[in-house]
Amino acid sequence: MAFTRATSKTHAALVRALAGKSGQALTTAEIRALVEERVPEIGQNIQWLFPTDHCDNHTVKGACECSQTDDAPLSRVSRGLFQVR
Ligand SMILES: [Zn+2]
Repeated sequence: MAFTRATSKTHAALVRALAGKSGQALTTAEIRALVEERVPEIGQNIQWLFPTDHCDNHTVKGACECSQTDDAPLSRVSRGLFQVR
């Protein structure tokens, strides 16, 4: 079985989980905990949720299509810390 970074699925879950959190600075662990709480159907796909894939000011190999666009839900503040846009 091929594993892919299901960034489109994790993107939608991330956007839902971050609703109402605009302006808050959250760590990777806090973001993942929020997604698991608010979007429990993410299940095992939580392992593919990397906040660094969904930043307007940062990108990585294999990032989501929102990366470096105005659709990105996060801005990278520092390593492991993100601000909700
Ligand atoms: Zn995204």
